[in-house]
Amino acid sequence: MPASRILVLGGTVEARSLAERLGNAGYETVLSLAGRTAAPLLPRANGVHVRIGGFGGADGLSAYLQSEHIGLVVDATHPFAAAISHNAAAAAATAAVPCFRLERRAWIAGPGDDWRIVADVTAAVAAIPPGARAFVTIGRQEITAFAARGDIHVIARMIEAPAAALPNATLILARPPFSLDGERRLFADLAVTILVAKNSGGDATAAKLAVARERRVPVIMIARPRKPAVPTFSTVDEMLAAIMHDRAPDRRKSAS
Ligand code: NAP
Repeated sequence: MPASRILVLGGTVEARSLAERLGNAGYETVLSLAGRTAAPLLPRANGVHVRIGGFGGADGLSAYLQSEHIGLVVDATHPFAAAISHNAAAAAATAAVPCFRLERRAWIAGPGDDWRIVADVTAAVAAIPPGARAFVTIGRQEITAFAARGDIHVIARMIEAPAAALPNATLILARPPFSLDGERRLFADLAVTILVAKNSGGDATAAKLAVARERRVPVIMIARPRKPAVPTFSTVDEMLAAIMHDRAPDRRKSAS
């Protein structure tokens, strides 16, 4: 077993890309997925081991780091996955292993945007005006909160269907990226009057914001949760450069 391996906490396009590029560059890499998606996209690179499922909190993750000889943790989870980020920072500190985060930049409202920024999904549900046709793009896990609003119609887009059906919803199952033309058709065909989004950032799901601006559709934008203070990089290139510049000699497979 190598003395030092890199654990990439995933569930994002960037995590998969980083793991692939680390694997191709000769780093012993483990990509960890929570197991929420039945058919996740997996890395296409030699030398990347994929593990699926929780660690059992910060203590479980700390034990994993030590037993698996992990020398660097890269938290490349989604900006809204807060628990795992806090666990990663705590576990890395306990195991005396560095922890970096890869987190894409947040979207910023520009001219013509009508954003109402809210703190969480509960506030987003409450902010939707009666009678709205709300295009809700927050994923599957918290979508049932919108069932409480019998006075609105929800157009809910997610990768896989939720466990329970939503009585007041049209369900769209689709995986990003989403094109500008596709979003234009969706807003028009489904007569969207308001958009509900998490401030996930990135290009793959940004077209809906451009269409909302074009059509003067307001956006209820859920702000990002707080994350622990660890060195953070916003692109895969920057993250790779930091790893290779600082740590290449002791993390290459050939060096172990
Ligand atoms: P979360 O609330 O931060 O994490 C809940 C628990 O899930 C964690 O305590 C951990 O279990 C487990 N977990 C989360 N990410 C993991 C990973 N990469 N590898 C192993 N275990 C993981 O996370 P969440 O919001 O439920 O998101 C779950 C996954 O979906 C994340 O990997 C995230 O990147 C991805 N995702 C989330 C969103 C979102 O909007 N939240 C959107 C797109 C993708 P233990 O405590 O047992 O270790």
